[in-house]
Amino acid sequence: MPGQLTNKVALVTGAASGIGRAVAQSFLAEGAKVVGFDRHESDVGTGHDAAYVGMVGDVRLAADNRRAVELAIQRFGQLDILVANAGIYDNRRRFLAFTPEELDTAFDELFGINVKGYMLAARTAADSLAKTHGCIIFTSSVSGSHAGFGGSLYVAAKHAVNGLTRQLALELAPEIRVNAVAPGFVPTNLGGLESLGQAPSNTGPSAADLPLQVIAAAQDYASAYVFLASEAATRMATGSVLELDGGAAARGPRR
Ligand code: NAD
Repeated sequence: MPGQLTNKVALVTGAASGIGRAVAQSFLAEGAKVVGFDRHESDVGTGHDAAYVGMVGDVRLAADNRRAVELAIQRFGQLDILVANAGIYDNRRRFLAFTPEELDTAFDELFGINVKGYMLAARTAADSLAKTHGCIIFTSSVSGSHAGFGGSLYVAAKHAVNGLTRQLALELAPEIRVNAVAPGFVPTNLGGLESLGQAPSNTGPSAADLPLQVIAAAQDYASAYVFLASEAATRMATGSVLELDGGAAARGPRR
């Protein structure tokens, strides 16, 4: 059913890669116009050139979030959907492997992107979203409600995202709906902690470890974002965290 987002304008953080890129592509295919905000140049490569504009910036900075919202208004006249998605991982680093000094820096890095970045995007977009009775969708994770799929920093940050989803659903209602999608493992470029020199990590379960026996592609999650942003979700969906993990949480993490 193409055209579910016709006349909608979306801002997607982390749109240069992985889940954010797949969401931007699906939104374009559904008729939306999209601003992609990432620290890297983004090109969603869908042939919807006039409907897509990329912006390079850092989600940790209020000024960059403001630039992104202003770009959406300038180019496309309004803002209906915010997808706060840009994130990094901690490569499951064990709590006791951090010195207190490393934890001090790594906390600021990971919470700065994965939590503060979401809050700044939501706060900056809120006034525009209220005008259009729009919505916010956060990318959470299976780590938003379960231990063992990340390290302590990542798991704590994603639990914070689920809390933020519920609190903002209350505070921003009835004008703005706020929901989250909680994916399981998907091989992307998900970066590690730069402050510790971690490389991106693509290691996760094998298909045989998962009840559905499938390793996701980023595109597998995009339809959930389309649904949450669409007309079909407007009457009832707010404060929900949609877990899509191939059964990973039902089975529990590997040791
Ligand atoms: P990805 O690295 O492919 O995409 C993340 C994007 O965020 C990148 O393009 C990166 O440049 C951007 N980004 C990172 N820091 C930024 C910053 N400070 N400012 C602006 N942009 C920044 O990884 P992904 O797997 O698509 O991750 C997207 C989201 O999905 C993250 O929130 C991640 O926690 C979540 N997630 C990923 C998985 C997985 O297994 N890959 C599972 C569950 C949830």
